[in-house]
Amino acid sequence: MKDIAYLRPQILQEASDYLLAYPDAKLLAGGTDLILSLERKKVTPTHIVDLSGISHLNQVVFENGILRLGAMVTIQELHEIPIVRDKFPDIAVAAGHLGCWQVRNRATLGGNLANAAPSAEMAPPLIAHNAKVKLVSSQGERMLPLEEFFTGPGRTIMHQGEVLAEIIVPEPREGLEMRYSRHALRRSMDISVVNVVVHLQLKGEIVIDVKIVLGAVAPTPIRSKRAEEILVGKKLDNILISNAAQAASLECQPITDVRATAGYRRKMVQVLMERALYSFFKGGAALES
Ligand SMILES: Cc1cc2nc3c(=O)[nH]c(=O)nc-3n(C[C@H](O)[C@H](O)[C@H](O)COP(=O)(O)OP(=O)(O)OC[C@H]3O[C@@H](n4cnc5c(N)ncnc54)[C@H](O)[C@@H]3O)c2cc1C
Repeated sequence: MKDIAYLRPQILQEASDYLLAYPDAKLLAGGTDLILSLERKKVTPTHIVDLSGISHLNQVVFENGILRLGAMVTIQELHEIPIVRDKFPDIAVAAGHLGCWQVRNRATLGGNLANAAPSAEMAPPLIAHNAKVKLVSSQGERMLPLEEFFTGPGRTIMHQGEVLAEIIVPEPREGLEMRYSRHALRRSMDISVVNVVVHLQLKGEIVIDVKIVLGAVAPTPIRSKRAEEILVGKKLDNILISNAAQAASLECQPITDVRATAGYRRKMVQVLMERALYSFFKGGAALES
């Protein structure tokens, strides 16, 4: 491996300056994706810019109904923090499914999103919560919905010199229920074949609000807007559940890879959607694994 210079900035602007000065530099967060990419020579940076010296990136603040998560908050912290478990349970559950305890203690939220794997565990629940991302560079900062952040496998909307600094999540409305479910080939230490998040609010038996996000079944995490349209304003019953689950499975664009065929992924979207929707219908088992 060729020599790589190591830099450890203390403030975000300095990190951004390094990225601008050295176009082949790479940011390092927990390293659970980056180090493997280095070993496999998928990336060959001239410089590594370690974000661990920028202390405020570790912060978690809940104030005035807004949760602010620094990009360096670890996945294990997300799984454990009481405010996340209490008000954003699907985020905490998704975090608990990422890798294993050792990986979760290194892996960061920012790294999971910036790596932009279609299967990124944390993206679907955060998109369902209308999360925004704050991108900072030495030229300024901008905020945009997480839903617009991903542009393809391994690609995001970030410009050269930008650092993902914070993820901002509004508190869910009273009465909104959340389900996260995933299917992987092993119970742990495996990337999702499919992950599904459903946020749904019922008034009596009528669906008054719903948001569905699917992971690992398209080049980026996607909303299933057709399934949402089918559900909203209608009585949640067997036929509606079956129609919505089928619409979601048709709406995704899965690929065949080492983990599953495209057809299997489509079928699993339908199965996980049906399970999630039935759990609301029947008064709800909590969050599924
Ligand atoms: C054994 C194992 C199991 C795994 N299981 C899962 C799983 O089940 N689900 C899953 O989703 N992932 C899984 N992963 C992948 C990985 O752990 C996660 O994607 C993790 O959250 C990445 O975070 P990190 O801090 O380690 O990122 P790093 O490896 O440090 O960085 C990843 C990428 O993001 C960039 N980056 C990091 N932080 C920022 C930032 N703040 N701003 C801009 N760019 C940034 C880096 O330059 C790099 O390109 C697994 C990995 C391993 C090794």
